[in-house]
Amino acid sequence: MARLIKGIESKLIHGGEPEPLIGGAVTMPIFQSSTFESAGATNYHDLRYIRLSNTPNHQVLHRKLAALENAEAALVAGSGMAAISAAMIAIVAPRGHLLAQNCLYGGTYDLITQDFPELGIEADFIDADDPASWREMLHENTRAIYVEAMSNPLLQVSDLKAAVAFARQHGLVSIIDNTFASPINFRPAEIGFDLSLHSATKYLNGHTDIVAGAAIGRRDLVERITHKLNHLGGALDPHACFLLSRGIKTLAVRVRYQNESALKIARFLEAHPKVAQVNYPGLENHPNHIRACELFDGFGGVLSFELTDGVEAAENFIANASIPISAPSLGGIETLITRPTNTSHSGMSAQERAVAGIADGLVRLSVGLETTEDLIEDFEGALGSC
Ligand code: PLP
Repeated sequence: MARLIKGIESKLIHGGEPEPLIGGAVTMPIFQSSTFESAGATNYHDLRYIRLSNTPNHQVLHRKLAALENAEAALVAGSGMAAISAAMIAIVAPRGHLLAQNCLYGGTYDLITQDFPELGIEADFIDADDPASWREMLHENTRAIYVEAMSNPLLQVSDLKAAVAFARQHGLVSIIDNTFASPINFRPAEIGFDLSLHSATKYLNGHTDIVAGAAIGRRDLVERITHKLNHLGGALDPHACFLLSRGIKTLAVRVRYQNESALKIARFLEAHPKVAQVNYPGLENHPNHIRACELFDGFGGVLSFELTDGVEAAENFIANASIPISAPSLGGIETLITRPTNTSHSGMSAQERAVAGIADGLVRLSVGLETTEDLIEDFEGALGSC
């Protein structure tokens, strides 16, 4: 009898799992085999080989991720950047042009500004909150528009519906990095995005023990990206597939807790006299709060803030907060704290960061699963030293 799987919580646990269970194993076994006995495939991409992302461990993840975002197909990759670079090269190369949001994860920004010119891919950055300005940025060879669900590290929520409509009107592929929202808070295919990309290193895995990526969306695009990734070689190892599958099963309980905890912490920080600015779309005074309420089921576990006394105060806060670990990355079960200027956005010049609105004293906090009241008490103490 086929399992009844409707809600996202049920999909996390049972979606895409083999039926019948392999050897009766309740947890999908790891197929740690680089190659598989030929089954008559004549096409290179259909040979069964880890680099071709088609072992049983990959296939379970592909089915599960597609189900989670109500999309047609999915692909996992060896890192978020492997998914992003393979997707963009598959869609925009050769000789194409990309319109990209002007405040992006630093690695994506570096890929676009440093590597793409060498590959003959052109790009222009758009104010993703000003759709009226996009048309004049179009080139004859523009192939895609690229945005992030919530920008890193300022948590801006751009006009995502306008990006989809603009792409449809001009025959572009609409691409979104959905890492910060996760499928619990936002499923891009539901508002018409062609492709959603993830650093699965973050919320999807959630346990800070692997790097992984995902591309989820239209079947024809996922197939093109798969073929590109097969040549570029950025496949996910079956053991990492297993860890990712295991992490994904608890995504809903983790992310909903993180949504609640981050909102309480954002409210605490906002009310504190030593805090100059808090960026969190769940706050009523965030410039994109109403849009975020319309689009998302929750506002995520990441927030950023600036202290009234700038960089020195930020460094003191990081040094004196006892719970958060000072490390880049986000979306895991432990609270992480970082200054993007030194980590995720250090590849940008000071001037580029200034244009993007990333102050040197900006602190980014990825809220984990610790007791919210412990975190608030810890931050209260750390602010006393700032
Ligand atoms: N996209 C976003 C929004 C990120 O924050 C990151 C990493 O921090 C990436 C993509 C890249 O992911 P990975 O480190 O898994 O390659």
